[in-house]
Amino acid sequence: MAKPIPFNRRWLQNQQARAEAAADPTAAATPVVREQAQQLQAIICAALNVLEPDDEAFDPMALVRAYLQEPPREADPVLYARFESQCPGCGEPIRVGDPIVRHQQWGRYVHAHCRNRQQRAAVAYTIVARYPGICRHCGQPVHPGERITQVRGLGWIHEACAQQRQRDS
Ligand SMILES: [Zn+2]
Ligand SMILES: [Zn+2]
Repeated sequence: MAKPIPFNRRWLQNQQARAEAAADPTAAATPVVREQAQQLQAIICAALNVLEPDDEAFDPMALVRAYLQEPPREADPVLYARFESQCPGCGEPIRVGDPIVRHQQWGRYVHAHCRNRQQRAAVAYTIVARYPGICRHCGQPVHPGERITQVRGLGWIHEACAQQRQRDS
């Protein structure tokens, strides 16, 4: 006759502990987030090679709280220009790396310091061409690196062609 399978004692104890925890409302009082926060704190402490957050000057728990909180939603995040353009606000060039922000009313990127301008610059919008194209004023190719101006109805044309149109009109 086969030996009866012995109960796994540890398993049984675990089951009992779980049942007791479920029955005891105070046992479930520790939220999961707190556990994650403690784990995160341990990771941060280890990474920064600090022992315990007793140091008043440095509080890893503040980092943990900041990490677990929703980041504040910023309406107009400041970006950094990745290519050259012209600021519709002041008309001055926007150079690569300049802080820029989308203007609330115009929906166009302007210098960060031009975000509150109410009036657009009167100057023509001129940039350096990044891609080859065709000028719809003179019909000649637009080469990358040439200065081009945006003209209503024609799109991007040579800056010189735009200036000539202005003189002719
Ligand atoms: Zn500007
Ligand atoms: Zn042209």
